[in-house]
Amino acid sequence: MAKKDKYEQVAEQIGDLGAEETAQEHGLGKLKNEKAYNPMALSPEEEASKNAFLERERRMKARLSQQAEPVDEMPEPRTIGVSEDTSISEGWVPIVREQMGIRSEFYPEDWEFYIRPATVQAIKNWIGIDEKNALQMNNTFDEIIKMCVRIKDGQQVISWSHLNTWDRFWFILKVRELTFASNKQTITFEDNCQECDEEITFELRSSSLHYEFPDEDVVKKHWNAADMEWNIDPAEYGVEDEEPITLWVPTLAKQQAIIDWAQRQYQRKKKLDETFVSTFLPWMINKASRDEAQFDRQVQKIEKIYKAWSVPMYELMTDIIRNITINPKETLKAVCPHCGEEVISNVQFPNGVKVLFATETRVQKFGSR
Ligand SMILES: [Zn+2]
Repeated sequence: MAKKDKYEQVAEQIGDLGAEETAQEHGLGKLKNEKAYNPMALSPEEEASKNAFLERERRMKARLSQQAEPVDEMPEPRTIGVSEDTSISEGWVPIVREQMGIRSEFYPEDWEFYIRPATVQAIKNWIGIDEKNALQMNNTFDEIIKMCVRIKDGQQVISWSHLNTWDRFWFILKVRELTFASNKQTITFEDNCQECDEEITFELRSSSLHYEFPDEDVVKKHWNAADMEWNIDPAEYGVEDEEPITLWVPTLAKQQAIIDWAQRQYQRKKKLDETFVSTFLPWMINKASRDEAQFDRQVQKIEKIYKAWSVPMYELMTDIIRNITINPKETLKAVCPHCGEEVISNVQFPNGVKVLFATETRVQKFGSR
């Protein structure tokens, strides 16, 4: 597929964030209307995989309720807990939000998340990925989310693109775990323990993803869960004569709008302020307009505000963004079997991200680090 076609496709998706189209496509929008709903046909393998996944989830849930421990501190967190729901029979598996830990707080309370196994088509797209093309990689990641993740607010389907950017990889791993649940394929790689320097094996799975959370008191003080925004008064931090700050969590929709916008700027031979675009802009957009010209103006307005910041304000903003960001990149955690410390390693794909959905062999190894 030519790059431009690919790109245009993405632009179309972004232009269609309303999700009506995807709701029809995947049927979750009609959960309660079971008669009208045409269930996704599962092959016997997919059915077996789904059942194995659900069985594990049920056991996990039972264990969890016995232990009554915080979900993100489970000793052997295989996968997730699953709530009883009719949609299971329709191919969509509900995700228990609590396992997202603090990340769950950055979604409206009523949102429910569902996943389904990657379809053959999704896996083909994945395997066809050109890993040298960052834009295409980004699109392929989004495609898996689009096809295999549903968000619902009551009866309303929320576009997949409203996932927070830092949750994308977690959901991809969830989908992978569901897809291969009956035929467990692990992806492991070696790294040296930062504490004792012994070699440890990291396993790539959703529950071993490592997240850095904002400080609890920072969230308590400045996160406005009712309006889903960060509110900070610069004066509180000794920065005078600046307007109160409102920031919004970066989502896949906003990320894509920014990528598209950056492409347009590039075509117009306009220079980009990289710090502004990558660090501040994703947080300063409330809702990305679907209209290109309007989005251009949105960015222009925000850049004006950014450029008007005093040095202390810039310093404060840098500090804030650093502290409220959950993971700028994917990292894994493991407990070192040699020294017992919890250690962190970067997720790297020297053999490519293709291994995530590769199906030929049981155990895939990636990376020498
Ligand atoms: Zn160690």
